[in-house]
Amino acid sequence: MSDLETHRARLEAYLVRFRENGIANLIDGKDVAGGATFETRSPVDDSLISAVAEGGADDIDAAARAARAAFAGWAAMSGAQRKKTLHRIADLIVERADEIALCECWDTGQAYRFMSKAALRGAENFRYYADLAPGARDGQSLPSPGHLNITGRVPIGPVGVITPWNTPFMLSTWKIAPALAAGCPIVHKPAEFSPVTARILAEIAHEAGLPAGVWNLVNGFGETAGKALTEHPDIKAIAFVGESRTGSMIMKQGADTLKRCHFELGGKNPVVVFDDADLERALDAAIFMIYSLNGERCTSSSRLLVHDTIADEFEERLASRVNRIRIGNPLDPATELGPLIHRSHFDKVTGYFDIARKDGATIAAGGEAVSGKGWYVKPTLFTGARQSMRIAREEIFGPVLTSIRFSSEEEALSIANDVDYGLTGYVWTNDLSRALRFSEALEAGMIWVNSENVRHLPTPFGGMKASGIGRDGGQWSFDFYMEQKNIAFATGQHKIARMGA
Ligand code: NAD
Repeated sequence: MSDLETHRARLEAYLVRFRENGIANLIDGKDVAGGATFETRSPVDDSLISAVAEGGADDIDAAARAARAAFAGWAAMSGAQRKKTLHRIADLIVERADEIALCECWDTGQAYRFMSKAALRGAENFRYYADLAPGARDGQSLPSPGHLNITGRVPIGPVGVITPWNTPFMLSTWKIAPALAAGCPIVHKPAEFSPVTARILAEIAHEAGLPAGVWNLVNGFGETAGKALTEHPDIKAIAFVGESRTGSMIMKQGADTLKRCHFELGGKNPVVVFDDADLERALDAAIFMIYSLNGERCTSSSRLLVHDTIADEFEERLASRVNRIRIGNPLDPATELGPLIHRSHFDKVTGYFDIARKDGATIAAGGEAVSGKGWYVKPTLFTGARQSMRIAREEIFGPVLTSIRFSSEEEALSIANDVDYGLTGYVWTNDLSRALRFSEALEAGMIWVNSENVRHLPTPFGGMKASGIGRDGGQWSFDFYMEQKNIAFATGQHKIARMGA
């Protein structure tokens, strides 16, 4: 059997139970099904994967109440015990990594070569925050004359976690692990297009011994289940990953209950290539950062800003590599590019091919759908673009790169910053002063110089401008999931002003 056939056979075995029983919600440690359902279909061939419980406001209410009831016990548990449980979750993720990777490929269209690593990165997220759990409440001693001030952190309470469909497993672990480490129970509302691995993850958490109510899973749509979660008074904070306009809606929805919000939103990230750069490596990185993960990646470098002195050759080499990217079944380890998540997203991405033509850009590679079954588009390169074009300003969120030329460092910077977003930036130059100057002035939360996106968990992850509010990573995650407290003890008889005496 080929690798594809063995993967297919293993996947079928994993999916049988979903096909037979559907995907239930998990509230207060129990499966909750029997109401309305919706379907999840594979973007590979539009085949049915499973019926999914369609949670509504009642389910969210039950889940939020369960999380509230579980809060005191989970928060009071020692950090050492929480650490043990989170490591157990990581162990179980590793044990089921094959199932997670294959199900994620089939549910989202992401290629196996990337998804097998994403499952393991999910385990790493749990391990990292497991080890930080014992110190999560730590604070400082800030003595002042007459007082001893002691700061500390306490978990904020039940948290709503709302995740998107791109690499949903990895992103869910990225939000949920620090929340649990901090002592917060969660209600997870995964994206309606990709519910399978969220269910596996919730099962793992319960198998690892997480008390009932600490991890609740409610599937459903954004406008119903998601909205109800953001409005629920027992939910103290919303950790959201998704589109910028959804973040804006969530902020409005959460206003009445004064929700604390953490937003990881969209991007239109530049990769800036100067003529003094290591062009081989810059080419590899530029290709990887937009065409891996089907380009459905918030940190993708979707705008190439290239020095005009090297642009002809760089774009030519780029186009020839893009044309050779292997499109195929995501279960095949040889596949580099799978189908887009859904019909609606396929329509959006292919719509930009017409927009590019109309606006006068050149389609140097791709620019069309792949005929046959599944939501496949060819990896696409637009050249001859200007920053005023929609393809240079809007997040397309597919394997589509827009190349814009610049003639000076000043022009490159002005183009790079001329978007609503500010998530990441990638700068390629061997001029040290320029690298420092440019990255200092670039409006982005995360910048890599002579590097593609290489994540280090203790560093802050998040965006500026329309790309987000708040940071994940290291202690930054705890700043969101916890309240800072200061307690001042008088150390002597300081003077208290006497009124009405
Ligand atoms: P989306 O905003 O459409 O949906 C994300 C989640 O929000 C889904 O679970 C959805 O059901 C829910 N939702 C929708 N409307 C809601 C509402 N009114 N109230 C509450 N919840 C609601 O995003 P998507 O299309 O699933 O994901 C792609 C987007 O996510 C892209 O813009 C991408 O850049 C962004 N993203 C950002 C990061 C980051 O770290 N900055 C990471 C991954 C993805």
